[in-house]
Amino acid sequence: MPLNQDVRKKAVYQEPTPILDHDNPFQSMMERFDHAAHLIGLDPGLYEYLKSPARIHITSVPVVMDDRSIRVFQGYRVIHNEVLGPSKGGIRFAPDVDLDEIKALAAWMTWKCAVVGVPFGGAKGGVTCDPSTMSAGEIERLTRRYTANLMDVFGPDKDIPAPDMNTNEQIMAWLMDTYSMHVRRTETAVVTGKPLILGGSAGRREATGRGVMTTTLSAMERIGLRPSQSTIAVQGFGNVGSIAAQLLREQGCKVVAVSDVSGGYYNADGIDIEAAMRYAEGHGRSLKDFDGAEPISNDELLALEVDVLAPCAKENQLTGRNAGAVKAKIIAEGANGPTTADADTILEENGVLVIPDILANAGGVTVSYFEWVQDRQGYFWTADRVNRRLDRMMRSAFDAVYGAKEEFSTTMRIGAYVIAIRKVADALRMRGIYA
Ligand code: NAD
Repeated sequence: MPLNQDVRKKAVYQEPTPILDHDNPFQSMMERFDHAAHLIGLDPGLYEYLKSPARIHITSVPVVMDDRSIRVFQGYRVIHNEVLGPSKGGIRFAPDVDLDEIKALAAWMTWKCAVVGVPFGGAKGGVTCDPSTMSAGEIERLTRRYTANLMDVFGPDKDIPAPDMNTNEQIMAWLMDTYSMHVRRTETAVVTGKPLILGGSAGRREATGRGVMTTTLSAMERIGLRPSQSTIAVQGFGNVGSIAAQLLREQGCKVVAVSDVSGGYYNADGIDIEAAMRYAEGHGRSLKDFDGAEPISNDELLALEVDVLAPCAKENQLTGRNAGAVKAKIIAEGANGPTTADADTILEENGVLVIPDILANAGGVTVSYFEWVQDRQGYFWTADRVNRRLDRMMRSAFDAVYGAKEEFSTTMRIGAYVIAIRKVADALRMRGIYA
């Protein structure tokens, strides 16, 4: 298949983003930010500073469509913060992209990078368009013109985009090529999430699932669970869920249940994850009729008597309605926003240790950082080296967040925000406000 017909392929790794309340995009992020800022007694001036985006770019993106008509799309890039380093964040192409959403997601990237100790600030970009109605050529022209309009914003030392909703490796390759044409040299480090042949990183495909595995093992250690004696249920059997299940099994855990849109699958003796992966691969990425386990419903899976529940499918799966039925001791949020605020309260009351999405699925953004480092060195690491370094960063991020949870007698979710805000605020104090 020619490369440019591949444009609709889903990105294997997408810069993780929170699920937002669409009536008020800032709200879900700001509530947690406010709570954590209050806990650490953040100075009101610093609070104002950290709430405000550093820069907002809005640009008109004219595109000659296939029928030779001209359409003008609205493009955005918001740089929320650059205190810890160049800004980093995905670019999304979707009909409902608007400035409020991009502002919220840019701020969230600042916290996300700070939690895992990646030396980047936060940014986010997007174009309001419906790529499902556009040809590959139209999407390519849109990408190139958006990049050209933002030439002064992007740069390996300034602002580094990545894939997000409806953007993928191919689109990142066009962005990198356009930027490189303008600066008259090949500059792979301007964007992450690229194809391997253009400076992508080994281990990126598995990175998010791997981070779920590492943080789960850390949580198990904290509460005295041995992998070889632990049972796990994984909701969602896509990129994140299947890799997390496979790696946890390799660590000796027994994965007794998995699920996808076709339903849940349970086997008390443990599911053969490799067999399930092969089955899904050969059946349109679906486990429908998989015979290595007995069928159960998705609700049953969430309420199973297991040690770890890993929701790795989609948002809003654990709610006020079903959180009380959860029997797992640990929840590892591979997906973004699988737990609602109501459910959070119930799980906290029931003593369930929730590894929040901002930490549990941060393996992807960490390997994005490794991609940038490798591009700048012009020297590429083995998958082993990527994995070892990823494990180390995820473990130390887990320990820091757990420490904050203990220090403030709060949840790991709020602990993660405490770590992030402290880190950025401390760096800001040391740098000072340039007058
Ligand atoms: P994916 O499309 O590869 O897989 C999603 C899986 O969930 C599929 O198996 C699908 O059948 C299943 N699913 C959907 N609805 C379900 C339901 N109601 N019940 C049970 N299963 C259901 O997606 P992915 O890349 O694995 O991402 C999963 C989640 O992780 C998303 O929330 C995503 O935002 C988040 N995330 C992904 C990455 C990454 O690197 N891919 C990084 C950070 C966060």
